[in-house]
Amino acid sequence: MATSALWRKISTVFPRTGADALNERVRRNLVRTLYTQPSSLAIGAFNGIAASTIAAYVSGSELLALGAIILSVIAVIRVGAAYALSAEEDGPSTNLLELTYEIGAFTYALALGSIAALTLVIQSPAAVEVLMIANATCYGVGICARNAGRPTIALGQLFLTCGPIFLAALYIGSLPFIALAATLFLLFPAMASITMNLFRELRNSIREAERNAELAETMRLLARTDVVTGLTNRAGLNHELVEQLMALPEGRRAALFWVDLDRFKEVNDLLGHAVGDRLLRQIARRLGEITPENAIVARFGGDEFIVFCEVETRQEAERIASEVHAEIMRPVRIDGDRMEVRASLGIAVLPEDGDDADKLMQSADLALYHAKSNGRGQTCFFNESMSRDLIRRREIEAELRAAIQKDELSIFFQPIVDLATGKIRSFEALVRWFHPEKGELRPDEFIPVAEETGVIVTLGNWITAQAAKAAAQWPENVTIAVNLSPLQIHAPGAVLGIRNALREAGLPPHRLVLEITETVLLDESEATTFFIETLAADGVKFALDDFGTGYSSIGYINKFPFSKIKVDRSFVSGPGVGRKTQAIIHAVAEMGAQLDMEIVAEGLETIEQVQAVRDAGCTLGQGYYFSRAVPDYLAAMLLAQERDADDEDRMTA
Ligand code: C2E
Ligand code: CA
Ligand code: CA
Repeated sequence: MATSALWRKISTVFPRTGADALNERVRRNLVRTLYTQPSSLAIGAFNGIAASTIAAYVSGSELLALGAIILSVIAVIRVGAAYALSAEEDGPSTNLLELTYEIGAFTYALALGSIAALTLVIQSPAAVEVLMIANATCYGVGICARNAGRPTIALGQLFLTCGPIFLAALYIGSLPFIALAATLFLLFPAMASITMNLFRELRNSIREAERNAELAETMRLLARTDVVTGLTNRAGLNHELVEQLMALPEGRRAALFWVDLDRFKEVNDLLGHAVGDRLLRQIARRLGEITPENAIVARFGGDEFIVFCEVETRQEAERIASEVHAEIMRPVRIDGDRMEVRASLGIAVLPEDGDDADKLMQSADLALYHAKSNGRGQTCFFNESMSRDLIRRREIEAELRAAIQKDELSIFFQPIVDLATGKIRSFEALVRWFHPEKGELRPDEFIPVAEETGVIVTLGNWITAQAAKAAAQWPENVTIAVNLSPLQIHAPGAVLGIRNALREAGLPPHRLVLEITETVLLDESEATTFFIETLAADGVKFALDDFGTGYSSIGYINKFPFSKIKVDRSFVSGPGVGRKTQAIIHAVAEMGAQLDMEIVAEGLETIEQVQAVRDAGCTLGQGYYFSRAVPDYLAAMLLAQERDADDEDRMTA
């Protein structure tokens, strides 16, 4: 009754199978305590064997001799098993360990208790009785403390050693033995309470340690995981990359792909960060799906991802790259909106492009930089010349500031022609850099550097001033178009820079056209609106440049006072120009006519292209067919020729 209630309590406090993973691990650790220090078991076993053998010898009882033999056999097997079974992490199952221990412990306890009881029943010499009872009860109490980690076993052993003595004492029934039985009877609840307390302490401290270890592991994982996509983050990448590189067998190839989404900033700016994040998650999931099993897929930050995996050949790397492109380009649906994203890829291959993590990353980064400057949506493998390009870029960066002072920069002018009359209506100012050693540098090479370093603000003001000066010499009806970088517009005093240029040159504002691209408008900042509206109020005209390459949002055309739209040259002479692009130009031209805007077709190189864009409804044209960009004196000469031709026409008329 009291005992059975106690047993029930024990089993509820400590169920045999763990309720969850934590409990299971705690249980294993507790079971492990049974197996720690098997030497203490051996000492106990030796004690038991010695005592029972002496008892049998002194009393000369055959029964006791049989008991001593059985006890010895059990003891030897038990100690052997404890040494043989390892309780390490990958050792036998927890249940097997516990069961093995239980069988040994219970049979041994029962044997020892029974031998002690037997000495009483057969009325052995008093010294033998004392020896065996002391041995059995000491063992029972000692083992109870030792095995507190498994209270069922601990108390079971106590019960099996003392139980038979208790019964034997009752059976004899003399007063001292009744007192002995009573002592043993009280011993049990006392030991049960001590054992349970010990057990609880032990379990709680093991649990605490487990929880701390679990928490530490979670924190470690969190620190290495990107919260948006769930991929490995930059810190995790460094760690995993070094690990995988070390594990890679000698002579094996691997490739590092640096993936950068094109125009992701625009998605963020236009649709908000929440949509941007969802897009990133989708892309992350797709990357995970198509890359090989044990590839590293990480988010490096922003819109950049890194994939690292073993490859047999460069061709295999190429194949993976094209799969990555295909997956990223597959339209993404978010809230019913269909989005198309593209990416640029830089690839570095181990070992030729770098044999450690840092060098590989550096090479892939350079390759990516090239992929992006080749026009977006490209893949580039690293090659040595890229390092040279980087050096060249650094040189350009260093020399650009000095170039203005050294008079190495000049403005060229490309005519923009009226497609109906063939007359020059405007010139676009295009900057050129004549470098004393490097020769002529294209703006595509140094304008991005100027933008990155901020030099563009000084440079831009200088260009506008020079262009305005040249235009002031031209006939009244010819305008000058100047390209503006986003940074120039955001710079403090941007309006002032333009006004100063006009004033110093004495050029009326309506003869200046500022060409801006959609990227300028994307952030919809107050600075941009202020810049455009203030100058438009002065009379300055605005043209939307490179139309068709970005979002081509009609919203911007509506919101800002553009007087011209310049259709990008890829619509005129790019690959795949055909009926479709014709139709697009046509639609844009029609819109231009409706909104009283002129449509400029860029990049006209042949008479066929000129005819096609004219038929589609463009009013102005620009391109090598008419003229390349020329120095100011040649621009003036072209205008003079036109005037002479006009004069002649008038004379003959
Ligand atoms: P953009 O504004 O689209 O300028 C037109 C570019 O197309 C010029 O290249 C021009 O030389 C080229 N082009 C003109 N006709 C043809 C043609 O028939 N066929 C081909 N294939 N190309 C043609 P450029 O001068 O190399 O300028 C490149 C870009 O650099 C410009 O593109 C513009 O975005 C930027 N840029 C040039 N000058 C300046 C400047 O003064 N300030 C700023 N911020 N950017 C500039
Ligand atoms: Ca332009
Ligand atoms: Ca353009």
